[in-house]
Amino acid sequence: MKGCFVTATDTEAGKTLVSAGLSCLLEALVLKPVQTGCVQTAEGLRAPDVEAVEGLGGRARALHCYLPPCSPHLACELARERLSVAGLATELRAAAQGETCVLVEGAGGLHVPVNEQESMLDLMQELGLPVLLVVANRLGCLNQALLSIEAVQARGLEVAGLVLNRVVEPECCDPGCGSTASPEDEARILADNVTSLQRLAARRHVPLLADIPYLGQKACAAREELMERLAPAARRVQELLSEPDRRAGESLLDFDRNHLWHPYTSATNPLPVYEVTSTRANRLCLADGRELVDGMSSWWCAVHGYGNERLIAAMTRQAQRMSHVMFGGITHRPAVDLGRRLLEIVPQGLDWLFYADSGSVSVEVSLKMAVQYQQARGRAKRQHFLTPMGGYHGDTQGAMSVCDPVNGMHVLFTGLLPRHYFVERPTCRFDKPFDPQSLEAAKTFLQNKADEIAAVILEPIVQGAGGMWFYHPDYLKGLRELCDAYDILLICDEIATGFGRTGRLFACEWAGITPDIMCLGKALCGGMMTGAVTLATRRVAQGIGQAPTELGGGLLMHGPTFMANPLFCATALASVDELLASPWQERVASLQTWLHEGLAPNAGQPGVRDVRVLGAIGVVETEKPVNMGLLQQFFVDQGVWIRPFDHLVYVMPPFTSPKEDVDRLCGAISSAVRKGLVL
Ligand code: PMP
Repeated sequence: MKGCFVTATDTEAGKTLVSAGLSCLLEALVLKPVQTGCVQTAEGLRAPDVEAVEGLGGRARALHCYLPPCSPHLACELARERLSVAGLATELRAAAQGETCVLVEGAGGLHVPVNEQESMLDLMQELGLPVLLVVANRLGCLNQALLSIEAVQARGLEVAGLVLNRVVEPECCDPGCGSTASPEDEARILADNVTSLQRLAARRHVPLLADIPYLGQKACAAREELMERLAPAARRVQELLSEPDRRAGESLLDFDRNHLWHPYTSATNPLPVYEVTSTRANRLCLADGRELVDGMSSWWCAVHGYGNERLIAAMTRQAQRMSHVMFGGITHRPAVDLGRRLLEIVPQGLDWLFYADSGSVSVEVSLKMAVQYQQARGRAKRQHFLTPMGGYHGDTQGAMSVCDPVNGMHVLFTGLLPRHYFVERPTCRFDKPFDPQSLEAAKTFLQNKADEIAAVILEPIVQGAGGMWFYHPDYLKGLRELCDAYDILLICDEIATGFGRTGRLFACEWAGITPDIMCLGKALCGGMMTGAVTLATRRVAQGIGQAPTELGGGLLMHGPTFMANPLFCATALASVDELLASPWQERVASLQTWLHEGLAPNAGQPGVRDVRVLGAIGVVETEKPVNMGLLQQFFVDQGVWIRPFDHLVYVMPPFTSPKEDVDRLCGAISSAVRKGLVL
């Protein structure tokens, strides 16, 4: 849909007059999603705003008409109906089909309710059109206009401009405004509103497009003047309509294809990408208007879905106050508050935090911590790590060196990566009785080489990107015991599993253990931005701290520029609070049931090697590596976002996903299996 949303600072501000004028100038259709205050006639309800637009020579349509002159939510309630923002948006898009420009005219101001939960502002956000704000020029309008601009901009929408409309007769003071000003004072106030608003709105990058004189009932007679005054507003709308073509010749997708690398892709032969323009709840909205049910939570992160108000408010508040400040020699409340909250919920014994700027960096820090700890204790030889095959810990060099050496990138970087030690992947399934034999390899290794090992590092319970494999908690418990026996540290990389994904707040809880060092990231910030944390026990922190001068004097040697970024800390705290306040255990348990029901029928089908579900993770492992491009296209055509790779077609939806959407995700996977797309 192309055009503009016309809203106002208040009711009776003159939206319809402005829409009518612009309709004539732009040959645009005015769409009124809800019209209250209609008049009953023999032919049905008459919508006064539609008549007003038509009276001036414009075109208009009202989608829902009600008699009482009140807010849409109340009019609907009285008519025993309910309108929703999603429903209205769909109807508006349908009504706008074939139009080159539409003007969607709201009802009243921004926060006018559409129903008991949603407002006109939500509708604006849903439509994503630029917003034209009509300001009733009267006493108090500066405040109203600036608050409205801020509210619209806070939703990520563009305020196309302001149109000031004099609603007070020049000679007489508006009795309704409560002003005791004389007519001269009144005139001065109204004139000042124009200059002041121009200046104040410009500071918010919003132009004042028109100042319409008082027309009262004479709008039709003064049509010429109205059109003249509104011409700059019409030009602005036209400018916005043509903006996407500014760089004619190279479309967004062309630029992307010619200049941008995507994760693990070729510059010369990339797979297609899909342009996402917005997100909401558990949906990704594509530029072509399609909406996809999200099955990936943006790689484990968006556990609350998208557009969570608590998270947005926390981030916005923090951005207004202090978005970043170096952490060297400085501290701040967001860092302390998040730290406090995390220490309350992580496995008992973890007591020190290092804020890193991504999951991989938090892994780098964990490795450094372990080596520094061993050095400080006089065990300089302990510079290596032991880890099971099938692990994944990130793409930076240290992290890569402990990723699975076969699936990982070791072949490419053999000369670059330090050599560490690997044992076979935990063979015992999560859902089968524990086989103590699966720990034998680690046991034997440590009997011989423990004095070279600083720490054992692994992902607890779920090996993620290395194969989406779920292993038995007793394996983790056994490794903890082995680490204790050989005085080796245990690092648990909870970056993917943390914050409820496996059905426990942290996957370590399945084994009832506390690692010496733990990495958290991804869902920590609810998918709002990057950030991670490496936690350590007091023993580790103090051990490092006691190193002699020749071994660094006990300083932990890491310090990223964006360490403890306040925006991240404040948002992460809101995300943790949101999770803890939600019925996340029930949600994850339901997701587990729905995923199991939906995916289990694929077991034993041609091309399928295994089907497994744990918490809010569902996996179909295939016999052969999948054709990623083909399958991705198929899923998009089915209206779901699932990104398969290697032998894995898997989903980990936001915890807030409703059953019907989880059914759609599973249905799309089953249909791909049935159609032989994984063969
Ligand atoms: N560890 C694990 C278990 C992960 O899944 C990931 C990310 N896929 C990382 C580390 C790396 O995190 P990031 O991508 O934020 O660097």
